[in-house]
Order: sequence, then C-alpha cells, then structure tokens
Amino acid sequence: MTLTVGSIEPSSQAAKAFLSRSRQKLLIDGEWIDAASGSTFATHDPATGRHLAELAEAGSVDIDAAVASARRTFGGEAWRGMTPSARGKLLWRIADLIDAHVDELAELETLDQGKSLKTGRFGEIPASAEQFRYFAGFATKILGTTIPTSIGYQPAGKKIFAYTTREPIGVVAAITPWNSPMLMAAMKLAPALAAGCTIVLKPAEETSLTALRLGELMLEAGLPAGVVNIVTGLGETAGAALTGHPDVDKVAFTGSTEVGKLIVGAARGNLKKLTLELGGKSPAIVMPDADMVLAVPGIARGIFANGGQVCVAGSRVYAHRSVYEQLVEGLAAEADKLRLGHGLDPLTDLGPLVNRKQADRVAGFVSEGTEMGAEIVAGGSQLGDEQTFYRPTVVTGVRQDMRMMREEIFGPVVAVTPFEEADEAIAFANDSLYGLAASVWTADLSNAHRLSARVRSGTVWINCHSYFSPELPKGGHKQSGWGYENGAPGLENYLELKTVCAVI
Ligand code: NAD
Repeated sequence: MTLTVGSIEPSSQAAKAFLSRSRQKLLIDGEWIDAASGSTFATHDPATGRHLAELAEAGSVDIDAAVASARRTFGGEAWRGMTPSARGKLLWRIADLIDAHVDELAELETLDQGKSLKTGRFGEIPASAEQFRYFAGFATKILGTTIPTSIGYQPAGKKIFAYTTREPIGVVAAITPWNSPMLMAAMKLAPALAAGCTIVLKPAEETSLTALRLGELMLEAGLPAGVVNIVTGLGETAGAALTGHPDVDKVAFTGSTEVGKLIVGAARGNLKKLTLELGGKSPAIVMPDADMVLAVPGIARGIFANGGQVCVAGSRVYAHRSVYEQLVEGLAAEADKLRLGHGLDPLTDLGPLVNRKQADRVAGFVSEGTEMGAEIVAGGSQLGDEQTFYRPTVVTGVRQDMRMMREEIFGPVVAVTPFEEADEAIAFANDSLYGLAASVWTADLSNAHRLSARVRSGTVWINCHSYFSPELPKGGHKQSGWGYENGAPGLENYLELKTVCAVI
C-alpha cells in the first residue's frame, strides 16, 4: 500500500500572510523580537516535509528577559490594578478573537501538526476559545473566607478578626506538548490569566505556530504588555532554562512522564509549585452487556482520533470473551474505514503523525510486538513520501508484560485482549504505572459505577471515551501527573492562600 500526498495551500489569506513572514519572533514585554543570539530553527509540514517557517530559538538570555518582563508586569499597575471584571472581559475578548480567526488558526495547526482540518476547525480551536470563556467567569469569583477563631490570648477588651484571601501565584512557566498545541496552551493561559498571574509560554518546538498567532490575538484583545510572553525554542535549552529559573514561581507542564520527572528536579532550587499533566496508557473495559453499537465506534474514536496522539488514548482494550470477536472485527472495520491524507484535504480523517521520528517510534512498537507473538488484525504499516503516516492498527495477542502494552505509544495502535471475569479486567486495567483515564462500557449503570470506583485513574468515562470540556477536571493518578487542569480545581493551581489574623 502506498500513499502520495501533494502539497495543499491554506485557503485563508491570513494563514498565507502569517506563513509568508521570513521569520517568526519571540514575544517579550509586548514586543516581537529576535532571539538575542540570532539563532533560528525550522518547522515543517509533516505530511509533505515542506518548510513552513523559521522560528526564533530562545536561549537563556531570552528566557531571563521573558521572566524579567513577567515579573515586572506582575508587580505593575497595568495588570495588578485591573479589576476582576475587566480581566474577565479581556478573556472573553480573546475567546471572541479565536472564534473570529478559527479558519486561519485551524489551517496553521493542521500544517504544523498534521491533524485533520475538521479536528482543529470543529474541535480543538473552538474548544480553545471555550477555555477562555469558562475561566473568564472565575475572574470575579475568587473569594476568601472569614474565620471565627478560638484564640484566647488577645489583649483585654480586644477581639480577633481573621480572614483568608486568595492571591495569584506569580510568574508561571507554561510548557506544552505537540499533540494539540493551541488547546494545551489555552488550558494553561485561561486559568492563569483569570487568577491574575503573568506567564512565559514555551510551546513545543515541533508545533509553535498557533501559540505565536494567539500571542498576536491576545495583544489585539488588549492584554497589557508583559502579561504573556512567548518563547519558542528547544526543550533541553529554553525549556530547561525556564523550569530552572529562580524567578519563576510555578511550572504548568503538559508532556511526557520522562520530562515531567526532569522538571521535578529542575524545580527544586526555589521549590516551584508544579502541575504535571503527563503520559497515559488508558484502558477501555467492555462488559458482556455493552451496547456494541455505541462501543465499537466510541472505542475506535478513543484511540484513533488525532492519530492516537492523545494523552488519554484508549490504547488497551479489555473485552469480555463473549464480545471479544465482535469487538475486534468491529474495530478493524472502523480502522480500515478511516481515510488517510493531507490534513488540509477536507476528506481526510487522519493526517500524518507529528514527524518521522514519531512514526518510526510507533512502527518500532508494532514490529517488536509482532516479533513477540502479537497479531496485526488491521493496519500495521508506515506510509507516505515522508514516512510520517501510520495506518490505524488493531493488534491482538499482546501480553501484559510486552512493551507495547506497558509504554505509551502515542500513535493509532490499539491492543485488544479478552477477559473472563470483571476482577481480571480490573487487574489488567490497573497493571500500569500510568493512571490518566479509562472507560467502562456496560448497559448496567450500577455496575458501571462500581467498576469506575475500582479503576485507578484521574478520569473514568462510562459508555464514552475522550470526552473533554473546560468544566471537567482532568489530571493523572500514579505517574500520569500531579494536580488537575480545568474546572474549579484548575483555577486553584494558579492561586495561593493568605491568612490574615488581626487584633482589633
Ligand atoms: P515532551 O515531554 O517531549 O515535551 C513537552 C514539552 O516539554 C515541549 O515543549 C518540550 O520542548 C519541553 N521539554 C522537553 N525537554 C524539556 C526539559 N528538559 N525541560 C523543560 N522542558 C522540556 O512531550 P511531547 O512529546 O511534546 O508530547 C507527548 C507527551 O505529552 C505524551 O507523553 C503525552 O501523553 C503527553 N500529554 C499529556 C497530556 C495530559 O493532559 N496528561 C496531554 C497531552 C499530552
């Protein structure tokens, strides 16, 4: 099987204009500037290998300047003095501008990351706007409490008045991965801005374009200079300088567990607060009474959407023996139906993976698995002139001890395994160092809730998989991370409590 993908131009004039710039710059203190060293790096369309843009490569001098700008702005009147209502309106304006530029942003995301246009245009870009709208409402609802105390040693005739306030945590370093670039940035920027923090955002080096365009839109919305600084650059240099910086108060990181652990080390110096949204190996458990009309496409979407480059992708499916054959056949049919192509082609269901390295990595997992006895039922091949595509793949006969069952593949590959008893399915599901998400498929809702309670993961979906919304907290148990994004807990990450106790 072969796949030839021609170059496709974006249809939006604004996306074309953005790509026609000779060089993209860093946003520091409200100004777009080159890296101090003058260094740049390139970003490419993974479907065709076409050069898209040259980006400024931030080094430690630029990181120092970005953090200094965020620190100055944090203490300055333009941001500190803005009323909560004005902050909320500003977030709402950012959301409106994202919506107004949805076609351009979706096309840039597709070109840079590879995802199908419909994923960005109807999913992730509008969802990014919703992140800002949801957190806009919180800006005016950051409350403290008054506390009746039982202290008895105040001077005679005096009383004690005690209360708490909640204050923005300070300068936040936000570091994002390449799978859903704009949405991951919005998940950090929106609550951090609602809380009143200032931010230095470092997008993934593979996919920085929409973060830069978002920076322009935020300034257009009226965000004061220095509130959000955007530094493009490599993880091991710019990312490491940022996470080790002594004037950063908090790191909000989404990425691999491996890099998450490096960040824990880097944060030690000044005991930065951390939220870590890390990797996963999410199971789907299919009970004998599951509605297969829902389960087959739902589980297929849960693993194949965005080419499996989703932290919660349901890459391990445990199906009761009585529905196992039907599920394997159904998933294979769903996999074969998906149309691969350039993401900008409106008929494309799945674009390429983010780059050749990632496609080779996915292929490596599958070939190692088959050498150890696993059987490919659908897919299983790498395609395209750039070898960046990987066909949606269904594999059976994968044992619990095999690497493809234990490690995050981050590609469109699902292993399906039969079980006899619910206890066995729960044991399989929990047999992982990750604990990000899981799904349970059954018509018996009492049983669904009992099973959900036994799965060790930050999210459990019942009769669905990969459902997200800003009001639903998401976070990882075990080595899938620390803390939660979204919902009210997502705002807490960016606030500190202060207790004031007065003798009056
Ligand atoms: P990655 O960990 O390689 O990189 C993520 C970010 O960290 C990038 O911006 C990178 O430049 C930066 N980075 C790399 N090395 C660094 C260092 N030493 N110090 C500081 N920053 C550094 O992850 P990726 O390959 O871009 O993304 C895929 C991973 O992200 C997967 O493991 C996936 O599960 C995870 N992810 C998790 C969630 C979640 O919500 N839990 C969501 C999306 C992706």
